[in-house]
Amino acid sequence: MKKSRILTGIKPTGKLTLGNYLGVLKHLPETQDEGEPFIFIADLHALTLPIDPEELRQNSIDIAAFYLAAGLDPNKSTLFLQSSVSAHAELNAIMQNYLYMGELSRMTQFKDKTTKMNDSAIGLGIFAYPVLMACDIILYDANIVPVGEDQVQHVELTRDLVKRFNNRYGNILVMPEAKLRKVGARIMSLSDPTKKMSKSDPKGDIFLKDDMKTVRKKIMSAVTDLGSEVKYDPVNKPGISNLLAIYASTKDISIEEAEKEFVGYRYGDFKKAVADAVCADLEAFQARYQHIIDTKEYEKVLKDGAIKARKVANETLKRVQNAVGLLTYEE
Ligand code: ATP
Ligand code: MG
Repeated sequence: MKKSRILTGIKPTGKLTLGNYLGVLKHLPETQDEGEPFIFIADLHALTLPIDPEELRQNSIDIAAFYLAAGLDPNKSTLFLQSSVSAHAELNAIMQNYLYMGELSRMTQFKDKTTKMNDSAIGLGIFAYPVLMACDIILYDANIVPVGEDQVQHVELTRDLVKRFNNRYGNILVMPEAKLRKVGARIMSLSDPTKKMSKSDPKGDIFLKDDMKTVRKKIMSAVTDLGSEVKYDPVNKPGISNLLAIYASTKDISIEEAEKEFVGYRYGDFKKAVADAVCADLEAFQARYQHIIDTKEYEKVLKDGAIKARKVANETLKRVQNAVGLLTYEE
């Protein structure tokens, strides 16, 4: 049987959070044997909101090192920078004609990220962001897209696009599907557990580069709920439920198993156990990250990755160009 193609990416818009880690990063290596992962740093997407060039460069390097520290094996996975593969922008120029203003206006992430902005400061790129994201997925014939819950709407839009395009031109594009973690697909802010933990809105975030003292302090002072029972109930107990999800995802166990461990615990002791688990995991992860930064191992990985990614992406691009009627003479 043909191996699945897996595609996923992270935007280098800020310091990575525990949400990015538990939602996708930590569990990516498990997919390497099930399929053929293409994993990218979504640097073009990072330009959709103002960002300092040096910060963008540093964030991009950090994400590459984090992927490797999480256990990504460059012999099994292709790791690359989105901007190194020009086919993303070329396919975008075609696909922007097959998604519509109405659909894009309904994307909740666009609304969330721009509500506080003045219209004259909102670039076209952030509105059209889901088009480029659809291209990211389509170019690698990806059928599996590991993401957090917030990205499901964009993957659904990609599915609509694929259906529309294939109806018109024949079976050209592969239908992708979002793959969510059962636990950890939506880690919430520690200071407001009704809000997603986000790197561009860093209130209540744990950052992957925080020192352990800070991580512990943040967990110990996380907002909790009324009552005293450690129970998973996201509506009535959003704070405790979030900490349970963090614990379960860190230990790679189910919510039910986590709940059982804490029967009869008081909030304070429960938080201490969560902090112990997260710190043990992050400390080892950070040591691997630091080694990768020191050796600059990511440079060769990204160069080789770009070559492999370009090959696959250019083939898909050509298939699309032919389908829509663009001439593709060989050089
Ligand atoms: P930004 O605020 O810039 O959008 P972000 O933290 O949402 O930053 P992204 O680069 O948009 O990060 O997303 C990278 C991946 O991490 C996506 O698959 C996304 O679904 C996932 N992700 C982001 N936040 C969380 C979270 N709180 N819990 C689980 N997964 C998350
Ligand atoms: Mg996001």
